[in-house]
Amino acid sequence: MKTVKDYIRTIPDFPHEGIMFRDVTTLFADPRGFRMAIDQLLHPYAGQPIDRVVGLEARGFILGGAIAHQLSLGFVPIRKKGKLPGKTIEQDYQLEYGEAIMEVHDDALQPGERVLLVDDLLATGGTAEAGIKLIERIGASVMGCAFIIDLPELGGRKKLEDMGMNVHILCE
Ligand code: AMP
Repeated sequence: MKTVKDYIRTIPDFPHEGIMFRDVTTLFADPRGFRMAIDQLLHPYAGQPIDRVVGLEARGFILGGAIAHQLSLGFVPIRKKGKLPGKTIEQDYQLEYGEAIMEVHDDALQPGERVLLVDDLLATGGTAEAGIKLIERIGASVMGCAFIIDLPELGGRKKLEDMGMNVHILCE
């Protein structure tokens, strides 16, 4: 029986030389693989008091939308700067080369709401950390951070756990 990991493809040297890009489009394209990934991502949170699912651009939108639908919750996107049309709050974060900014609509979450944060892959944890900060700056709290893939040598899981986060990841 195939596991989630079996559906993920690795493309060497994308988008830069030396990067092993973990491509989840092959997982998303397969009906059994996609359902398995969604079911396993939300498994620890089914029945938990969660008010909203938040996804990180862009593959977190695909996962977060499906998880939100399955849990009968609403979905909120966190996007790269300049993509959201309404009033936003911004959070900068470190990239491998330089800095970037993530945004969320300032009225997308309410203070006190309990959030499940979703993305495809955890590397250094910088993107997820920016998402957590945005959610917490609104006054909402992060009940869990769910990813399909962890790159353990980059330390993202430790970074999020050191922030007190519950981290759920399907494979390394
Ligand atoms: P980081 O902020 O370092 O944890 O990077 C996580 C973000 O970058 C996620 O949104 C991933 O989709 C993307 N990412 C980083 N490294 C890879 C990789 N090797 N393969 C695919 N996506 C990656």
